[in-house]
Amino acid sequence: MQKIRPVTLATLLIGGIFALPIPVAAAPKDSAAIRADALKDTVVWDFTEGLTTEVGPRPAGTPQEARARDWAVARLKALGFSNVRAEPYTMPVWVRGRDEATIVSPFPQKLVLAALGNSGSTPDKGIDGEVVYFPTLADLEAAPADSLKGKIAFVSHGMAATQDGSSYGYFGAARRQGPSIAARKGAIGILIRSIGTDHHRMPHTGVQMWADGVTPIPAAALSVPDAEQLARMIARGQPVKLHLVLTSKMLKDQPSGNVIGEIVGTDPAAGVVVAACHLDSWDQGTGAIDDATGCGIAAAAALHVAKAGAPRRTIRVLMAGAEEVGGDGARAYYKAHGTEKHALAMESDFGADRVWRVDFKLPQGHDALAGRIAAALAPLGVGKGAQEAGGGADIAPLVKAGVPVIDLQQDGTRYFDLHHTPDDTLDKVDMAQLQQNVAAWAVTLDQVANASETLGIN
Ligand code: ZN
Ligand code: ZN
Repeated sequence: MQKIRPVTLATLLIGGIFALPIPVAAAPKDSAAIRADALKDTVVWDFTEGLTTEVGPRPAGTPQEARARDWAVARLKALGFSNVRAEPYTMPVWVRGRDEATIVSPFPQKLVLAALGNSGSTPDKGIDGEVVYFPTLADLEAAPADSLKGKIAFVSHGMAATQDGSSYGYFGAARRQGPSIAARKGAIGILIRSIGTDHHRMPHTGVQMWADGVTPIPAAALSVPDAEQLARMIARGQPVKLHLVLTSKMLKDQPSGNVIGEIVGTDPAAGVVVAACHLDSWDQGTGAIDDATGCGIAAAAALHVAKAGAPRRTIRVLMAGAEEVGGDGARAYYKAHGTEKHALAMESDFGADRVWRVDFKLPQGHDALAGRIAAALAPLGVGKGAQEAGGGADIAPLVKAGVPVIDLQQDGTRYFDLHHTPDDTLDKVDMAQLQQNVAAWAVTLDQVANASETLGIN
């Protein structure tokens, strides 16, 4: 139920009991009521369950991603969002083929692996080479030029879990830069230990971009147990020879797109609040924690704000396409909407576990707003961080342009057990933690969308 706003009450008193309340700029609704309601939310689960069941894997630029757009448009309309539409663009698409690796000698056996995005392709019959071992990416970087001619590089850079996910930035370099470095030194292929923190035979895929002037080579991630197996064989001192089949292809100009839905605000001049996630996923799992839950959280939270009445600012849910392969959706959004007034942007793309910290990047003089948000989040066990918020890939162009941003940091301790693996499936989602995310997002969006302060750019 909506509480009587202090301003409205004052207007009544001044004007006499017969005066009608005049419209006033909306004030933030009662955070306690929104929080309590959002902690019982069912929309987020239904969204996540529906998208992962009825669409499943949705790689960027594929017919599956197109089905995800149709699904999301229908669902957002059914949930009561306004101005729901898909915004298409085209992009090049890398398509996985066969992923096979076999130790030829000295201990013949198969290894479990998955090609990395944009991997070069082997011929159908595969390639053969001796493995050269590098314990870390720095060791690969230190290898002399041309020292890998005809060889297959193997970088084993074991990743440890961190609550804030910061280890992904450090260890992820083996995936992001390793293939280009190996190719420059003459390697015919590269294997990395999965950028992951589990010990299951689940390879973690992910995108990597070839550096300028580098000819792509086959590049893949071994599951962590398979990487350790290969390292043990190498430690025995005999040359290890490998047969690798990694077929894939590149397609030009494939259709992709973003999906947008809005809770329309009462004050168009106050700017739009973007609540972002990404609709695409990697191909191996059903993209439950990456990032169906993020889209469910953003949509559900926006609805909780709307339940208490139209907010001052429009809340625009942006379900971006093609995040996993380089952020084509984010760039397309900025191209189409970058000149509109954006008050603030947020993104949910770090799984479904609980929010534990809030970080801000607000214009000077907005400590009061940050304080109100921190107060609304405190009962959910969310502390105020000292770091500056940075957003994520789907809002990166907005943040770069100077749009204020708030990060609701999720607990990433187990995120990289599942990230980009076949194991990213619905059963990993914890309902109570998912609802806590919705509550954190709902009170934050409510405060931002209804803040009387001036916010944003353009
Ligand atoms: Zn993601
Ligand atoms: Zn991802």
